[in-house]
Amino acid sequence: MTIGDYHAHTRFSMDCNETMEAQCRAAIERGISEIAFTEHVDHDTCDDESRAHYRYEEYVSEIERHRTMFGDRLTILKAAEIDWNESIRDEVAEFVANHEFDFIIGSVHNLKHTYVGFTTLEAMGGPRMMYDDYLDQVRGMVDTGFPDVVGHLDLPRRYHNVSMWDVDAGHFEARVREIFRLAADRGVGFEINTSGLRRGTGATFPEPRVLDWFVEEGGSILTVGSDSHRAEDTGHSIPEIYTELRSLGIDWRTSFVGGEQKRVSLPGYPARRSIY
Ligand SMILES: [Zn+2]
Ligand SMILES: [Zn+2]
Repeated sequence: MTIGDYHAHTRFSMDCNETMEAQCRAAIERGISEIAFTEHVDHDTCDDESRAHYRYEEYVSEIERHRTMFGDRLTILKAAEIDWNESIRDEVAEFVANHEFDFIIGSVHNLKHTYVGFTTLEAMGGPRMMYDDYLDQVRGMVDTGFPDVVGHLDLPRRYHNVSMWDVDAGHFEARVREIFRLAADRGVGFEINTSGLRRGTGATFPEPRVLDWFVEEGGSILTVGSDSHRAEDTGHSIPEIYTELRSLGIDWRTSFVGGEQKRVSLPGYPARRSIY
């Protein structure tokens, strides 16, 4: 029986103060058997500080050191959360070509060189334009095929109190379905990011309602991650999400241990109260 947290950060990410050791110990304590340290890799001009903070060689040697310390209890994946938008297409392609990882999340964090959490709906031309712009970037990223999974689809919802479905359910369903089809074609999957259960909307990113569309459009690569920036959040709600996935008819997740993509069965948990 394995539980994987496929989205966790350490001090190698600029917005995180947690040590890799504390993250590993927290994971083991909570019965997590696989953890992916998906440090931020940023290239946008608004992320210069984060870009300067990232140190690949040192990160790799720390991964090796922690594998030696914890390898008998925890499988540690060498991973990255790589930011993408059209303006940094070439830089990301070059980075991906020159660095090796077991697992890569591709995330769209910025619109018009501003973090989606710092912009206003007015500055984005209203919620419809913001979500259309956001999905244009997600689509562009999926089309490149570089990520193993797309990070926190629906991220703007963490910061802006309106969902795509409130704005225009039909229009955005069609857009998201088209992105799922393209992703299936490009070999790109999606993650269920549990951070929204702790902050913001009280729901995962994306919301489970889109999983039916994901499967219908041919989706076959799926990970679950906490997006933990503190040891106390590591593994957060992952067993509950596994239960939720099972109730939606999805009894598998994707593992990337050793950089090898493999479908694994979800552990059978006793039924719990639905968290949605
Ligand atoms: Zn992110
Ligand atoms: Zn993250």
